[in-house]
Amino acid sequence: MSIVDLTSMGESQAELRKEINDRLSRLQEDVSDYCYQCAKCTSGCEAHKLLELEPHKIVALLKRGLIDEMVNSDIIWTCMSCFKCRERCPQKIAPVEILFALKNMAVASGKQIPGKYSTILQSVLSMGLIQDIQEVTMRDTKTKKRGDLDLPALSKPSDPAKFQAGLMKIAVEKL
Ligand code: SF4
Ligand code: SF4
Repeated sequence: MSIVDLTSMGESQAELRKEINDRLSRLQEDVSDYCYQCAKCTSGCEAHKLLELEPHKIVALLKRGLIDEMVNSDIIWTCMSCFKCRERCPQKIAPVEILFALKNMAVASGKQIPGKYSTILQSVLSMGLIQDIQEVTMRDTKTKKRGDLDLPALSKPSDPAKFQAGLMKIAVEKL
């Protein structure tokens, strides 16, 4: 069932809407009230090209207070966090931050997260990076390391246990 089908049956959840708007205000992001549904965010959305995610509809659903429907929809996990919607919005609204808030609420409520996110989390916890440092393949099919491209070395946590404890503390505070 699509998110639009779900929301056609939904009731407004004013408290949850307030929670997300408070969070956006703390981040100094403008809240959904200022959205005039121009869909500029959606026209540049990388996930919309392949999937159903339409950031302007996410903002509209937040305005209507249909939060549970979004928290329980798989569509929120298709956002690639490219931040294009935030850059393109003439009203300085950040649909991407709304999606972060919805994902945080899903995790806080114990909802199962997609496997890829668990892999990324494990990688961040173990080495501070979303994936290990990669070599790149050039047009001539030769591979190059960061140093070959004059890129600085990336550091990894010197004390992984301390790093993990600190990271988890911040994650819990931000949820
Ligand atoms: S670009 Fe901004 S104002 Fe336009 S629909 Fe998206 S969030 Fe709303
Ligand atoms: S951050 Fe997410 S919602 Fe925004 S444009 Fe990128 S993929 Fe789309």
